[in-house]
Amino acid sequence: MSKKLFMNALSQAGEYNPACGSATSIATMELMDKTGAFFPEANIDAEKMALLAGAGCSELGFDNVMPLFGVWHESAALGCRVDWGEKHRMPDCQHHLCENVGDEIKIPHDFLMRESCQTPLKAIKILKKRFDRDAAVTGKVFGPWTLGYHVYGVENFLIASLLEPDEVKKAMRKLIEVTVAFANAQIDAGADTICLGDHCTRDLCSPDTYRDFLKEIHQELAERIKCPLILHICGDTSDRIRYIAETGVACFHFDSKVPTATARSLAGDKLALMGGTSNYDVIRTGSPEKIAADVLEKVNNKINVIGPECAVPLDAPMENLKILARETKKYRREK
Ligand SMILES: [Zn+2]
Repeated sequence: MSKKLFMNALSQAGEYNPACGSATSIATMELMDKTGAFFPEANIDAEKMALLAGAGCSELGFDNVMPLFGVWHESAALGCRVDWGEKHRMPDCQHHLCENVGDEIKIPHDFLMRESCQTPLKAIKILKKRFDRDAAVTGKVFGPWTLGYHVYGVENFLIASLLEPDEVKKAMRKLIEVTVAFANAQIDAGADTICLGDHCTRDLCSPDTYRDFLKEIHQELAERIKCPLILHICGDTSDRIRYIAETGVACFHFDSKVPTATARSLAGDKLALMGGTSNYDVIRTGSPEKIAADVLEKVNNKINVIGPECAVPLDAPMENLKILARETKKYRREK
């Protein structure tokens, strides 16, 4: 029944009833030991990926499972050379495909068939079968702003957004098709909901840039991706939550840099909220009392899905994630 509870939390159906979960990675070294699914294999082997993601429900007690731990799957399919990480290190990529934003990127016609897209698609299929109604399956894709960083390099892309805004817009129009195709393939594979990550955080993207470059794009993605969309943006987003609330995404996964009460008041009634629990002060180093107090604060502010703000640090203790799930369940109408 967790799946139903999670989906109701995203659509804010019925009375407030908090779910527990995450749109981003819950992979930790301890969970890897527990499941025997380690990086890099858990990023490149569908069975291992499903095993580690499934532990989010079976070990931690979360109401959803999400198998795309890094940020690089679709970028690898476009041609970026990705290092898939190790037990103690998240996947990374130092290589970008193009130097100039004006250079046209070619989207390979078979990019969905490439290994780095096929692995998570197969993992989603396995998770769907394995968890059925016991957990919602959340897929993950990146928006064209993040894909722009990956393809052109962060610095090149940001400079171009100031000097050649039309080229940036053109590149984003091209890259949006990658986001939509990968998302819809994940839905076909069994994803109930999709996390849309777009790293347009305040230090890299001003509120005006969000309004001018991204709001419409996120609006379009909410329309074209046929399941409830969870937008994830790290950092302080308080200057753009009101724009996000107008995009039509179902839910916003927010960072603890936005105070919980501020996030709720800016989001209004229509936008569901998820996350907001600090990975460093609460998940990684918090005492049981601190975690309980954080959950209560989230409940008091009607945060719909309670969970970590972003990818859980690899060295976070599993016990703290379990406490977070247990505390959330205390506030449920049906236990
Ligand atoms: Zn994040």
